[in-house]
Amino acid sequence: MAQVVVVGSCMTDLVSCTTRLPKPGETVIGHKFFIGFGGKGANQCVQAARLGAKTSMICKVGKDSFGNEYIENFKRNEISTEFVGQTEDAATGAASIIVNSEGENVIVIVPGANLLVDSEDLKRAADVICKAKVIVCQLEITPATSLEALKMAHASGVKTLFNPAPAQADLHPQFYTLSDILCCNETEAEILTGLPVGNPEDAGKVGSLLLERGCKLVIVTLGAEGCVMISKEDPIPKHVPAGKVKAMDTTGAGDSFVGALAFYLAYYPNLSMEEMIRKSNFIASVSVQAPGTQSSYPYRKDLPQDLF
Ligand code: ADP
Repeated sequence: MAQVVVVGSCMTDLVSCTTRLPKPGETVIGHKFFIGFGGKGANQCVQAARLGAKTSMICKVGKDSFGNEYIENFKRNEISTEFVGQTEDAATGAASIIVNSEGENVIVIVPGANLLVDSEDLKRAADVICKAKVIVCQLEITPATSLEALKMAHASGVKTLFNPAPAQADLHPQFYTLSDILCCNETEAEILTGLPVGNPEDAGKVGSLLLERGCKLVIVTLGAEGCVMISKEDPIPKHVPAGKVKAMDTTGAGDSFVGALAFYLAYYPNLSMEEMIRKSNFIASVSVQAPGTQSSYPYRKDLPQDLF
């Protein structure tokens, strides 16, 4: 039985590298193309699975080659695909990304099949959702579906970890009351609260505002600075710094952090939250030292064993 269940998105990243971005109507010749596996939900699930969590992904892909490949990717990562639906009504979610030599990019995301995850899919997976230790949700599928998944899990006493990304200013208030843990980055925290976040002190302020909305614990991640946590039990913000590393590619670091945290919540429930966050910081900081998103996520066997 899965201990970590993720209800969320998967996207195929189609990445073209060029010296400069094309203007409207222009064709430029690129020098490199690659396909990557992405989508916040799938990324988080893959990180949890690579640390050794028994995981199940509840999501939808198209009946197309990208969908087939994504299912194979889940299997390679030993993630249960019992509740990965395949639909003929939309294409697998795709992100077309163009990156220039300065590292600037333009991105078009077509959520496609991700937006077709619905109540029926959740009902089919009800047993798995309600018997999990931890459920993880984001906002890359229809928000009403994420909310319903959180409700189902919460009603069964499953720990809820909510990552409000991409952030929405007018988030339904129940997202807060249903979140045991809300984990967001600086930009998302700003969108949710309207307050700027540039340092740990600001993060503490937005954290306390988000707590007032009803979550039990808030984590605001701060890139190289690590993160700030604040909880109902201990309403004094605590800065948990990340170790100093040479960052190579920080894409997907937040998802690595969330996936790692889900793993610790499910398998090491007796650790203090600060310790879980410290370990999750470490794992996310390993991911920024390698290129790509899922390709940069570490496996348990390659990590210091005192993390386990
Ligand atoms: P997102 O990817 O959502 O923007 P962040 O940039 O806040 O999220 O990063 C998430 C986590 O990844 C951080 O809390 C930290 O643990 C780790 N991290 C990110 N960037 C770095 C970095 N340059 N050095 C060390 N750790 C990092």
